[in-house]
Amino acid sequence: MIRDIMDTHTHTLASGHAYSTIRENAAAAAGRGLELLAVTEHAPRMTGSCQAIYFQNLKVVDRHAYDVELLMGVELNILDEQGTVDLMEGTLRQMDLAIASLHIPCFVPGSREYNTQACLNAMKNPYVHILGHPDDPRYPVDFRAIVQGAKEYGALLELNENSLRPGGSRKNAKPQDVEMLKLCMEYQVPIVIGSDAHVDTDVGRHDLAHALLEELQFPEELVVNRSAELLKSILKDKSGR
Ligand SMILES: [Zn+2]
Ligand SMILES: [Zn+2]
Repeated sequence: MIRDIMDTHTHTLASGHAYSTIRENAAAAAGRGLELLAVTEHAPRMTGSCQAIYFQNLKVVDRHAYDVELLMGVELNILDEQGTVDLMEGTLRQMDLAIASLHIPCFVPGSREYNTQACLNAMKNPYVHILGHPDDPRYPVDFRAIVQGAKEYGALLELNENSLRPGGSRKNAKPQDVEMLKLCMEYQVPIVIGSDAHVDTDVGRHDLAHALLEELQFPEELVVNRSAELLKSILKDKSGR
């Protein structure tokens, strides 16, 4: 079993379609024995989510709760082929962690080349640390280019628990995850597991992700979830701070 002491992708009430508070999520993380929890609300272009001012005031939030270290971040929407995201650079610079993802309705699916270019350009952004759920079948991508891009730009690729759940919004994501993970092994590119929890009971739930990693005999040293120090050094290297 791969050591896993963090959840890098969670939402609270502020996202508009999630149902728990920061402290409820932190308590759930503590209950599962996690050391670190990233709170990553949807950025403003997602219907019903919070506005830029929410992200600009995160300094008021204590970075510890229930013995769990909190990273206050964001899940950005990639908006176009240039990898434009929906927070200004000055705001992004203040985030502890930023995921960038392709979402309906913020990004209209294009060709494989178009989707891939959008992801590569987002990963190039020094303030984007993680490419969220690249396994979405509605957005086909060239995984070899994505994995090589992640390596070149020092970004992490996410293995998203929600994508693997039956009844989730990304149907049949597993074949894409298998392809991505095999390429990560080939190119020695690290991944990070995130629950994408929208309610406290899902925080830290990574069962299907772990089962898949085990199935593929994915090496533990390529799973960032094993060490908070490792994650923080990757964030620092990426953003130069
Ligand atoms: Zn959501
Ligand atoms: Zn997402």
